[in-house]
Amino acid sequence: MSNVTVCARFRPRSSKEFRDHNDGVCVRGIDAETFVFQDDKEDELTFSLDRVFYEESPQAAVYEFLALPIMRDAVNAINGTIITYGQTGAGKTYSMEGPGIQDCDEHNKGLLQRVVDGMFAQISSLQDIARYTVKLSMPSLSINEFISNSLRDLLDLSKGNIQIKETKTQGILLSGVTEVPVSDSAEALQHLCTGLANRAVGETQMNMSSSRSHCAYFLTIQQDSVKDKRVKTGKLILVDLAGSEKADKTGAEGRVLEEAKTINKSLSALGNVINALTSGSPSKASHIPYRDSKLTRVLQDALGGNSRMALLCCCSPSTSNASETLSTLRFGMRAKHIKASPRASEVKFAKSQEEPSSATKDEKCGRILE
Ligand code: ADP
Ligand code: MG
Repeated sequence: MSNVTVCARFRPRSSKEFRDHNDGVCVRGIDAETFVFQDDKEDELTFSLDRVFYEESPQAAVYEFLALPIMRDAVNAINGTIITYGQTGAGKTYSMEGPGIQDCDEHNKGLLQRVVDGMFAQISSLQDIARYTVKLSMPSLSINEFISNSLRDLLDLSKGNIQIKETKTQGILLSGVTEVPVSDSAEALQHLCTGLANRAVGETQMNMSSSRSHCAYFLTIQQDSVKDKRVKTGKLILVDLAGSEKADKTGAEGRVLEEAKTINKSLSALGNVINALTSGSPSKASHIPYRDSKLTRVLQDALGGNSRMALLCCCSPSTSNASETLSTLRFGMRAKHIKASPRASEVKFAKSQEEPSSATKDEKCGRILE
C-alpha cells in the first residue's frame, strides 16, 4: 500500500491580485513540506504535505518530485495518474503545459512535455531489453451549452460522445477513442498541440482563457520483451481538471454559469469518491459512487487503487482567494488518505501464444482499443 503523493503549489501573485485587491499573502512557508496558512478569519492553520512548491519553485522541481517516479514506473508497466486540481487561475494548466505547449523554452516546460521527454529517454535506454510502443489519446470531458458533460475525443472531434466501458481484464476503457502511435517527443508534441487546439475555451472574470473542461492525456506504454515475447502495458494518465471555484465568485452568468455548475458537480463527485474511499472499508468497492459522474468513471481505476497517483493542489497565495485555497488544500488532505496498491500489469504473450477462443466477452470488448 502506498499513499497518494499530494503536493501544493503556490503561484506568484498575479498583477490583478496586486492591482485590484492590494492583496496580502495567505501562506508562510516553513520548509519544503510544511506551511502556515491564514484563513479569511485570520486563523492560522499548519499544513504538512509531501512537498510544497512556492512561487519561486521551477517547473523542473515539480516534475522531478511529483511526476518522474510515476513516469518511470509506467515505463515498467505500473499504471500512474497525475492530477492538477484547484480554482481557475491557480496554475493547473501552467503546471501541466507551461505557458504554452508549443513554444515553451526548456525552463518553462510543464509536466506534460517533461513526462513525454523523460519517457522517451528512458525507453531508448531500454531498447536492448524490450521494444516499446507508445500510444497517445486525449479524451476531454467538455462542458458546453450544446453537449453538456460529453466525453469528446480531442484527437478526432468527429467521433462525438465517447462511451465508457468497464471490462474485467482491463478495467475502464474509452470505447473507440483515437489512440495515435507516437515514436518520439516531437511527434507526441505535434498531436498534443492538435488536441489542445480543440479543447473548449470559455471566459470568466477569473481567467480569460480558462478551459471549461477536464482534459486527460493518456499515454499507453506497451513493452514487448526482446527475449521471450512477453507483453506488458503501463498506462499513464495526466489530468488537467477544470477550475474548482464557486460559480458566484467568478461573476459568471448564462452559459458560463451553467458550465461552472456542471464542473462543480463533477468535482463534487470526485470529492465524494475520495470521501467514500477514505472513510469506508476499502473492500466495499460497490459503495464507491464512481458512476455519479463521467469524470470519476474515467478515473475509476486510478482512484480505485491500481495506479500510483499524485495530486498537485494549485493555489493562489493571495488573501482574496484564501477560502478557495483552503478548500483546495482540504481536498488534497483528504486525498492523502487514499490507499493505493498498484500492481504491474499482467504479462500477456505476443499473438502466436494467445488462445483467442478462450477470450471472455470482456476481453473481446477490451480489444476495441488494440
Ligand atoms: P488554471 O489552469 O488553474 O486556470 P493557469 O495555469 O492558466 O490557471 O494560470 C493562470 C495564470 O497564472 C497564467 O497566466 C499562468 O501563466 C500564471 N501562472 C500560474 N502558475 C504560475 C507559476 N508557477 N509561475 C508563473 N506564472 C504562473
Ligand atoms: Mg487551466
